Amino acid sequence: GKPVVAVIGRPNVGKSTLFNVIAGDSISIVKDTPGVTRDRIYADCNWLDMNFTLIDTGGIEPESTDIILSQMRQQAQIAIDNADVIIFMTDVRQGLVDADLKVADMLRRSGKTVVLAVNKVDSIQKFGNDVYEFYNMGIGDPMPISAASRLGIGDLLDAVCSHF
Ligand code: GDP
Ligand code: MG
Repeated sequence: GKPVVAVIGRPNVGKSTLFNVIAGDSISIVKDTPGVTRDRIYADCNWLDMNFTLIDTGGIEPESTDIILSQMRQQAQIAIDNADVIIFMTDVRQGLVDADLKVADMLRRSGKTVVLAVNKVDSIQKFGNDVYEFYNMGIGDPMPISAASRLGIGDLLDAVCSHF
């Protein structure tokens, strides 16, 4: 079948914004059992001559750090189990935080293909240098993007599709 690409990361890093930019109108929602996992949103996407299924994880906004951590582990596990390529998204404005490192550990141990996107780089002049710290996670080269301003999306999709 078509390759599956999942977007994972902490709440508020911009996963759904990226998903909507890539997916446009072709969105379908699959509800999970309440309280077990979150709703996942799927879309059939094209980039150049490539077709793939994109999954937006997340949807519930957790209140406590404990819940954020456990939900991120769950997301990462769902992505590891179901996706061929994982877009791991971080936020340049919040910088590298402990929760990012925990997910990076899981992803590294899984051996899955990961593309690391550093979002909210709305200006390379302003935020470009802050991207470098994400190399410290040891899961590959961080790719600066701005989902809101649609910057770096083509390069990101090239990187994702190079793994199909
Ligand atoms: P999610 O929780 O990871 O799905 O994040 P959302 O896509 O819901 O975005 C969270 C917030 O970040 C929203 O207020 C978005 O408008 C904002 N956001 C998303 N992408 C960008 C970006 O590239 N730059 C900036 N400055 N804000 C962004
Ligand atoms: Mg979201």
